[in-house]
Amino acid sequence: MKIEERITQLRKDLHQHNYHYYILDSPEISDYDFDMMLEELQKLETENPEYNDPNSPTHRVGGAVTKNFETVVHNHRMYSLSNSYSKEELEDWEKRVKKMVDGDVEYVCELKYDGASISLTYEDGKLVRAVTRGDGFQGDDVTNNIKTIKSVPLKLKGDFPEKFDIRGEIVLPLEGFVAMNAERVELGEEPYANPRNTASGSLKLQDSAEVAKRPLECLLYSIIGENINLKSQNEGLEKARNWGFKVPKEAELVKNVDEVLQFVNYWEKNRHELPYEIDGVVVKVNNLHQQEELGTTAKSPRWAIAYKFKAEQESTLLKQISYQVGRTGAITPVANLDAVQLAGTVVRRASLHNADQIAKLDIREGDTVFVEKGGEIIPKIVGVDFTKRDPDSKETEYITHCPECDTALVRKEGEAQHYCPNANGCPPQIIGRIQHYISRKALDIEGLGGETVALLVNENLIGNYADLYALRKEDVLPLERMAERSAENLIQGIEKSKEIPFERVLFGLGIRYVGETVAKKLAKHFKNIQALSKASLEELVNVDEIGERIAQSVVDFFSSEENVHTIERLTTYGVKLEISAEKLANQTDILDGNTFVISGVFEKISRNDLKKLIEDNGGKVSGSISAKTNYLVAGENMGPSKLAKAEKLGTTIISEDEFLTMVPAAN
Ligand code: AMP
Ligand code: ZN
Repeated sequence: MKIEERITQLRKDLHQHNYHYYILDSPEISDYDFDMMLEELQKLETENPEYNDPNSPTHRVGGAVTKNFETVVHNHRMYSLSNSYSKEELEDWEKRVKKMVDGDVEYVCELKYDGASISLTYEDGKLVRAVTRGDGFQGDDVTNNIKTIKSVPLKLKGDFPEKFDIRGEIVLPLEGFVAMNAERVELGEEPYANPRNTASGSLKLQDSAEVAKRPLECLLYSIIGENINLKSQNEGLEKARNWGFKVPKEAELVKNVDEVLQFVNYWEKNRHELPYEIDGVVVKVNNLHQQEELGTTAKSPRWAIAYKFKAEQESTLLKQISYQVGRTGAITPVANLDAVQLAGTVVRRASLHNADQIAKLDIREGDTVFVEKGGEIIPKIVGVDFTKRDPDSKETEYITHCPECDTALVRKEGEAQHYCPNANGCPPQIIGRIQHYISRKALDIEGLGGETVALLVNENLIGNYADLYALRKEDVLPLERMAERSAENLIQGIEKSKEIPFERVLFGLGIRYVGETVAKKLAKHFKNIQALSKASLEELVNVDEIGERIAQSVVDFFSSEENVHTIERLTTYGVKLEISAEKLANQTDILDGNTFVISGVFEKISRNDLKKLIEDNGGKVSGSISAKTNYLVAGENMGPSKLAKAEKLGTTIISEDEFLTMVPAAN
């Protein structure tokens, strides 16, 4: 097969697999096979730049950087929607509609997705441009970023018009949002406030590779253009689905306002079952001819109306502002409220985020405040009811000293959060760090829970994670609710943690910004804690994917004598602070400079392990055979085309057994 044909075929197949995975939610091949195909395509494209295609599936991973987003005039204006909040308002709207058009009127009820609006332009079935709403007349060209969103088709299927725009909403589903925040908290960063702002902020990130990492989705609702040959909104939704767009299936065709209200009531009650947030329902006249008759006002179409859900907001008394100290020393102000029912739960506390937020909203103790809650997110205070403010109330003075250890707080240039710098003497930081150390992804100490850690610290039995290893059964037995058996389990659990590999210990040390992945990278590169502790800023930055912020944090950590001492003690106790001999032996340079292609099914080893073995020993794995391939590792049922190509190019073909003799770890 000619290279060009192969590239075309791969692109076509990848578009199709992408559609099955992200739109239909039923993948047809394994992730591994998908990755292999993508890798092969990437390689072919790099080697043959003349076949470049801006809509190749390889652009999903991002990489393009936009310094300034270009302003683009919309092909068709992006209107906003008029709002309604009651049955009466809907009935008024229906009356106006019926006055202006002839015949029966049907309506499509759709969910009102809460995200950032986007307009996509397709020509000849290819995505050519993605523009934000902006002021409705013109917006920003964010095409590179939008291409990384997997549910945006880069190529359409079926019978699509030659040129059209399609409108939709970029949303960040809650599950992904919660995961992103968990990761940020783990790294000691402030969590994002809500999915909507995070979604719209994502569109304007300069580095599209960053956008690619965010689990965004694009939900479409409206086709616009000349000669698109559609009769109704409902038909448009169905067609868009057939062309490969993600169009939620909840939309319903109804005949009157009563049915609209049924739809509204159902979704107002069940909105939290959806994977993403909605803030209401959009009702549209179904017949496009009638839509045209109705036209638009200066701001919004007359043929559509949004029914906004009552904001899940309540007002209540802010009794007191307290301050929490996290594991990394970050201070979070917390509002303590008179208990209030909100979105089905009782709310007593809400985050106030930081000093700026309190100042901006002028929040004071004794105020009546508005509390909101969306999805699973911590409730937040969105404003103050100034009509109820006590004339004697005083402006909130943010604390200057740590509420737990009285150390003066610091706030770094450009950061929103205050920090308590007394890392080794501030109780919640000490407790938090040890809790992190024993957590499942770190040292995974069985028989020891977070509360027991707090108890141990408060009883002065431990002051850092190294102290755990000096604990004896007699020390812990006197603790409240500590039975003989639990004490034994605890000591055993601590003992067992000495078997946990270096990379997880490194993660457990709780160095700011060193999450699980970074810990793995550092462990692999430096091999032991000694080397890591001596690394300069420059050496650290030179490690793949380690940025200045992480590097500085590592240097800071090891510049503390106390930390160095704690780590010396961990070493003495026998905690693993270097890559195991076994793992080290697995990592050689024996295959340095050799490129391998893996094909077929293997008996003794999985494809993944095979790939890992090659990489651990300095070799490279590629998806397709080229002149640069040194070895083809051939398994059962290998594709005949690969074999033919290898033979033609004179690639050395080896069996699984032959490969295994090449690397020491396998013997
Ligand atoms: P508003 O911003 O309140 O004027 O509401 C208009 C916005 O609602 C549009 O710009 C869209 O971004 C958004 N929207 C969300 N879901 C839909 C939908 N199903 N139909 C139309 N607009 C929607
Ligand atoms: Zn403190």
